[in-house]
Amino acid sequence: MLKPSTVERLLHSHGAAPGSQLTRKVVYTFHARIAQRWHQGRVFLAGDAAHLSPPFAGQGMNSGVRDAHNLAWKLAAVVEGRLGSALLDSYEQERRGHVEQMIQLALHMGKIMAPASRATGWLMQTALRVLSIWPFMRDYFGQMKYKPKPYFERGFFVRERPDRSQLVGRLLPQPHVRRIDGTIVLLDEVLGIGFALISLDRDASLLARLPFAGILGSLGPRRIALAPGPAPPQAHASVEVVTEQAPAIAPSLLRYRAGALFVRPDHYVAAIVDLAKPASSLARLERLMASSWRTTSDAES
Ligand SMILES: Cc1cc2nc3c(=O)[nH]c(=O)nc-3n(C[C@H](O)[C@H](O)[C@H](O)COP(=O)(O)OP(=O)(O)OC[C@H]3O[C@@H](n4cnc5c(N)ncnc54)[C@H](O)[C@@H]3O)c2cc1C
Repeated sequence: MLKPSTVERLLHSHGAAPGSQLTRKVVYTFHARIAQRWHQGRVFLAGDAAHLSPPFAGQGMNSGVRDAHNLAWKLAAVVEGRLGSALLDSYEQERRGHVEQMIQLALHMGKIMAPASRATGWLMQTALRVLSIWPFMRDYFGQMKYKPKPYFERGFFVRERPDRSQLVGRLLPQPHVRRIDGTIVLLDEVLGIGFALISLDRDASLLARLPFAGILGSLGPRRIALAPGPAPPQAHASVEVVTEQAPAIAPSLLRYRAGALFVRPDHYVAAIVDLAKPASSLARLERLMASSWRTTSDAES
């Protein structure tokens, strides 16, 4: 396979100019593997050390970055003593399922990209070309909209109802927003790197008055009011007020107009807080935070 004549023939069939300079040639061996456990004592596995994926979905490194994103804030919170070490059990609980889905996706895509016969290859290519005439399908394939989005079944969050359409356990959508000084930024920039409570209620006073005590108080979540439409919500000293910019706020976010979303430092939604009657939601959140100080390996919602 690596003989110069074979490489040249393969490159030629893909339109490479004759005599092109080769910088590297290698035969890759693909694996679909997941380590039995990703965490023991003070040692954590992340990225390819925890899981290997065939490259057909182009998601191996993406999964590793998601691991680091999930683990980094938890390690920081535990090392700094803000949350207990049982929080770290949620790393594998939250990441493993999505990694399995991505590896399955890569295996399926491999069957399409490396068909067993010329006839199957021709059939698949033709079907994809025909489907791509329809703009919806072109975007669906071109932007890989079939890729499963991360959704936590277990982990560090409070889900009151088993409702998969809820944002709890999912990444917060991030529209562009306008700050009070007129600058337009992505919502991630407003959320910052700590915990945050974000409300879509036009009246930010409920958010401003929300009492944070105990562990929640010590975590000092930022309070953010995001107003749909061009008019800003009423300003409050303890609340950062931002307004919607194009593209419009995702419908999955708009359904929380009556409440507020408690967002983790990795910008996954940890809970929904009822702003009109916050006592029980805040008590549940406080119990979640306290669960991180348990000595067992079961810090979950
Ligand atoms: C052909 C191919 C195409 C790919 N395409 C994509 C793509 O399009 N999109 C995508 O997201 N992913 C893609 N991937 C996967 C991606 O390359 C890997 O998932 C990613 O590089 C893994 O990163 P990592 O940091 O976990 O591991 P690695 O990149 O393997 O990094 C580990 C590092 O640790 C070093 N190391 C090992 N042992 C020791 C030691 N004892 N002491 C110190 N250092 C050590 C190694 O030298 C290495 O530098 C592709 C992979 C292949 C093979």
